[in-house]
Amino acid sequence: MRKIVIIGAGILGCSLARELASKKAGTILVLEKEPEAGLHASSRNSGVIHSGINQKPGTLKAKFCVEGSRLLREYCRQRGVPMRECGTLVVAKSSEEELCLKRLYDMGQACGVPGLEMLDTPQIKEREPMAQGASGLFSPTGAVVDAKVLVETIKREAEELGAKFYFHQQVKKIECQKIFTYNRVFQPDHIINCAGVFADRIAHMMGCGQGLHIVPFLGSYFEVTNIDVRGMIYQTPDLRFPFLSTHLTRKTDGRVIAGPTAILTPGRESYNGRIQWKDSFEMLGSISFYKMIFGKEFLKMGWKFFKQILSKKVFAREIQALVGPFRHDQLKPYPPGIRAQLVDPKGNLVQDFVVEYRETSTHILNCVSPGLTSSLAFAAHVTEQIRNRGGL
Ligand SMILES: Cc1cc2nc3c(=O)[nH]c(=O)nc-3n(C[C@H](O)[C@H](O)[C@H](O)COP(=O)(O)OP(=O)(O)OC[C@H]3O[C@@H](n4cnc5c(N)ncnc54)[C@H](O)[C@@H]3O)c2cc1C
Repeated sequence: MRKIVIIGAGILGCSLARELASKKAGTILVLEKEPEAGLHASSRNSGVIHSGINQKPGTLKAKFCVEGSRLLREYCRQRGVPMRECGTLVVAKSSEEELCLKRLYDMGQACGVPGLEMLDTPQIKEREPMAQGASGLFSPTGAVVDAKVLVETIKREAEELGAKFYFHQQVKKIECQKIFTYNRVFQPDHIINCAGVFADRIAHMMGCGQGLHIVPFLGSYFEVTNIDVRGMIYQTPDLRFPFLSTHLTRKTDGRVIAGPTAILTPGRESYNGRIQWKDSFEMLGSISFYKMIFGKEFLKMGWKFFKQILSKKVFAREIQALVGPFRHDQLKPYPPGIRAQLVDPKGNLVQDFVVEYRETSTHILNCVSPGLTSSLAFAAHVTEQIRNRGGL
């Protein structure tokens, strides 16, 4: 019986454990440094099951987002995971944004996103009375899920299928296929690295992911009170950047959130912006980091989001552009998340999912958004790839 160790019990680690256990691939162990599953990116996100409209056709993200959205919605319906199938509305206010909206429509069609509809102003108002826009794109398969309940449900199912979870087990060192935590040693036949924002560090311990570094981007949110948002309202995105623009989302618990921003943070788990010295020194010691921050597009994106965190009023203005008159005292604090963004040796922000397959290990190196949406489809794909390479 082969022994497989998964590092990280986020949505991806749990989905892989479930998939491998259901395929009876061997003894499946999941090592997680925290006391429970999904405490980082997997629960600190917008909880949107994306339909796939903003994905570039032909990419892994496009494939797994569209397929993953269908699988995940079906999964939530069957397992009773809280979900709102409200659809996604993207609004355009200028002729430039309208062109971008048409591009989104074409990209969505090319990716196989079902049921896309272009809307005029009265049709926008019918769906979202507060939304401001000359034209809109409605994608009916967009949905919102309770991400924490989802991770817990997938984890529980993996356990029922035989996978074992070990919590408080931070992987400190890996040598000759031996995994060392503070009090245990594991020696599996295959290691799957799903360590999220630390995935590059785990890969480097095994001589993989050379030249690749993960940079943490803080995604801040606000809760917006007294606002009539029925589902999701998005600004037209700037497709040059990997992060979506500010959007409004009604969560499954009824609260409306705005965000997230995307701003560099001095620690991989620095949710409050406090410096985490090891992470900061590591970031400052890599040449690709300087190439990234002095890149023209990064500076433009950084400034846009930096203004938002400097002042609540700037953030409120962004929301005003989406839903009309709005006061900044309607914004209340809401927990942020951290995006694990992979940067290549040239300083480019890598846009697609990246997986490195080795004979005795597999490394998921850029599970960025829409990683939640894609989780079940991505896990099935990775399992098949490992099997095809003789790793199972
Ligand atoms: C602000 C924000 C908004 C987002 N919005 C959406 C959205 O609306 N829709 C969508 O589809 N996607 C969204 N995403 C993306 C999605 O959340 C991620 O793609 C997904 O959660 C990644 O899952 P993961 O399992 O790879 O990582 P994680 O959830 O980070 O899990 C990694 C796990 O590994 C553990 N770990 C790390 N190092 C070690 C170690 N050394 N030893 C043991 N364990 C370790 C961590 O504790 C963690 O639990 C968003 C992300 C962010 C940050």
